[in-house]
Amino acid sequence: MGLDGMTLRGFDGRVAVVTGGGRGIGRAIAEGLAAQGATVAAFDLSAEPSAPVPEGMDLHQIRCDVADEASVDAAFTEVEERWGAATILVNNAGILVSSTVHEMDIASWERTMAVNATGTFLCSRRVLPGMQEAGYGRIVSIGSSAGKTGGARLVGAYGASKAAVMVLAKAIASENAGMGITSNALAPTLIDTDMVAGGGLSDLASKIPVGRLGTVDDVAYAVLFLASADAGYITGEVMDVNGGFLID
Ligand code: NDP
Repeated sequence: MGLDGMTLRGFDGRVAVVTGGGRGIGRAIAEGLAAQGATVAAFDLSAEPSAPVPEGMDLHQIRCDVADEASVDAAFTEVEERWGAATILVNNAGILVSSTVHEMDIASWERTMAVNATGTFLCSRRVLPGMQEAGYGRIVSIGSSAGKTGGARLVGAYGASKAAVMVLAKAIASENAGMGITSNALAPTLIDTDMVAGGGLSDLASKIPVGRLGTVDDVAYAVLFLASADAGYITGEVMDVNGGFLID
């Protein structure tokens, strides 16, 4: 299954930023947005794509640490100078440190909050004035079911950071409703990427009611819809992409 057969409105001529767009879910989202006609800047810790960008695709990787205010500002400034202000932002960059709360060191806690929660805040804050000026914007932030349940083991810091991401998405929605700007979040579960493999979570597939892990395209399809002009009446929503793992 690929994303090239899907056509939605609102991408031609638009500039999109996808954080953590170098690999995994972020790369699939970045390619999906580019396939729809957007000019896409993938922010990542490295400026080198993990895999070659398909020929002719308007997708560019820019070095950015989303947890660092100066780095975020510099990356958005580069985007503005090369292509103009971004009116689509996907807050996807995230890290997972698996640990019980009582065994977690402070550095892991702080880095998790810095990348996942503060990174989402910094990028959203940097992009919003341009969206307000344009009278149009789409922000989609990648949360997690771990930020909803609070009961998942070994993901205390991660879940707390993702709860912050999803509440921030709602706050942005509320503050910018009526300005042509929507802000929504996704709450995925067990998508088949390095993060899940690295966290030793792949064997949890049997716990997913639909009977498989999610794919990066499962997430990208949902992001593309929420980032399209056609989703202008949806804001402040947290959409599950979880194969029925958590039905709430
Ligand atoms: P991966 O670990 O596969 O990829 C994460 C990406 O984020 C990498 O490209 C990484 O860059 C980048 N990144 C990490 N830290 C930073 C930073 N400080 N600044 C910029 N980029 C950074 O993760 P996934 O693709 O699986 O996850 C993507 C998002 O989806 C995350 O927010 C994750 O929490 C969320 N999610 C994932 C689920 C899953 O099951 N996989 C489930 C629920 C949510 P680099 O390559 O340089 O390390």
